[in-house]
Parts: sequence; structure tokens; C-alpha cells
Amino acid sequence: MDLETIIAERRAWLGWKNIAPLREAMSKLPEVGDVEVELGDWIRVRSETVTPGEREAIEEVARMMKPWRKGPFDLFGVHIDSEWRSFVKYNLLRPYLDLEEKRVADVGCNNGYYMFRMLEFSPASILGVDPSPLFFSQFELLNRYIRSDRLRYEMLGIEHMPGYADMFDTVLCLGVLYHRSDPIVALKSLKRSLKRGGELILDTFMIEGDEPICLVPESTYSKISNVHFVPTVAALENWCKKAGFERFEVLETVKTEPQEQRKTEWIDGESLQEFLDPENRELTVEGYPAPKRVYIRTYRK
Ligand code: SAH
Repeated sequence: MDLETIIAERRAWLGWKNIAPLREAMSKLPEVGDVEVELGDWIRVRSETVTPGEREAIEEVARMMKPWRKGPFDLFGVHIDSEWRSFVKYNLLRPYLDLEEKRVADVGCNNGYYMFRMLEFSPASILGVDPSPLFFSQFELLNRYIRSDRLRYEMLGIEHMPGYADMFDTVLCLGVLYHRSDPIVALKSLKRSLKRGGELILDTFMIEGDEPICLVPESTYSKISNVHFVPTVAALENWCKKAGFERFEVLETVKTEPQEQRKTEWIDGESLQEFLDPENRELTVEGYPAPKRVYIRTYRK
């Protein structure tokens, strides 16, 4: 099936009973003029013309769109203090980004936080893909006011990237790979969407060790379901080689800390504090090594 057909079919997801009401409410929000956007750690959108009533209406729609995992955003004074402080990851990657006039894709883009931030580099275009109609709707709420015409968002997954063959100079795929049951196939999909010589920037959970081996969680990992493989850096390098990448650079390895991921009023459930063993913060509640991530860059052959 070609991408246009899949995209058209998935439009119907916006009619799901948990999604349709928030889209209906979003469509009734006021237009706002004279908008100023500040693309800092908090992505801020301001306007002198917003009335208290309009601000309240925007806040109500934003609250309907919980959980806000990624952010934070300040929409006309509505402080969407998301579970993740996504600027920790963004600021870590920022020195490695060189995106001027580049065609960029962000695979698993969530609500587009990094897409908005990357506009600072004046890329030619940024395509975000994520199959979640909720996160897509959050993006639409934000871009209704930020109004960037360089951004496009499709409700697709990593598995659809071969449909964008040879398209991108840079592909980001952050926090997605461990959710894939076949990471080598996933990496091949990303590779196909890159131009020859194009770069992939990726992060994944990792375990310590020199051997090319993986942790396979029995059910959850740090209370996250669908974590299939947690590799050593050596195992990740081998996956990348097998998928057709060359030159493998480790950019950083970092432990997730509670200042990066924590419970706020913008999510309903628990967060990192509850995912770790209360007696030993080096372990998850399941007894696995506590979450640590590796950030890498590698290039399509
Ligand atoms: N890239 C962001 C978000 C990671 S959370 C970051 O690093 O902060 C994982 C994201 O992957 C979620 O937004 C989820 O909706 C998305 N996702 C789920 N299935 C996917 C798939 N098949 N392909 C791409 N993304 C997927």
C-alpha cells in the first residue's frame, strides 16, 4: 500500500471516541493574531491580544489532551509542564546538529517538541511521524499558533519510512528503537529513508558491558511495556552495521534522572520515581539496571 493510502486511512483515527471530542473543542478555539514565538527550553507562544476568556478556552483544550509526555510549552500563559523536560535531551543533542537547508525527519516525534526546537537551524523541511492521534492533535494545537510551514506531521510509524526512499539528510529516531520487536528491520527502514551518506541520530536504553549482548525484559522494563531489547553499545553498533550503516559514533551515555522525567499535573499516572526500586535507585522495580541511554550517530552507506 502506498503512503498516501495509509495516511488517508489513518485520518479516520481522528474520529475515535477519545479523540473526536478534543478535536471538536480545538476547532472552536479562537484565532489569535500578533503571535510571538520563543523557541527556548520552554517553547513559548505569546500575544498581547489574547483575552482571559480565550486563554481559559485554550487551557481547557490542552487539559483535555492529557497526557502531555513531552514539552514544556507555555501557550499564552498556560504552562504545560510535561512529564519529560525534553530540553534535557534536546540540549544534549544540539551541539551535534547541523541542519541548515537540510531535509530532516523525526521518527516517533510525539507532539513535535524537537521539531519546533530544530527550526532554529533553518532546515529546508522537517517531517515528523508518529502513529498516535493524541500526540498528532497536541502538535496541531501547538502549530495552530506557532504556524510553521516547514513542519509536516504524518500519523505513520517507523515501519513506513521506506516509503520516503532516499529523502532525508538527517533522521532522528529518539526513544523508539527499544519498542520495536525487530530492531534491525527498524534500522533498515530508517536507512532507506536517508540519502546516501545521510546521518541517523538515535537514542535507546542501554546496558553496561563490552560484549554485544542484550537484556530481554520478561514483561515491563521500568514499568514500560513493549520494551523488547536493551542492548550494550557493542550490540547496538552491530545492529547498525547489519542494517547498512557505517561509521558509528557514540555521542553521549546518560542516566535518566528525576529532573528530566517526573510526575506533573499534565499526566495522570506515575513517573520515574515510582519506576525505580525504592531500596536501590540503581535498579528498576523489576530488578533490571536503572534506565540509561546511549545517543549515537551513524551514516547510511
Ligand atoms: N522521540 C521522543 C518521543 C519518544 S516516546 C523523545 O525521544 O522524547 C516514543 C514515541 O514513539 C511515542 O510518541 C509513540 O507514540 C511513538 N511510536 C509508537 N509506535 C511507533 C512506531 N511504530 N513508529 C514510530 N513511533 C512510534
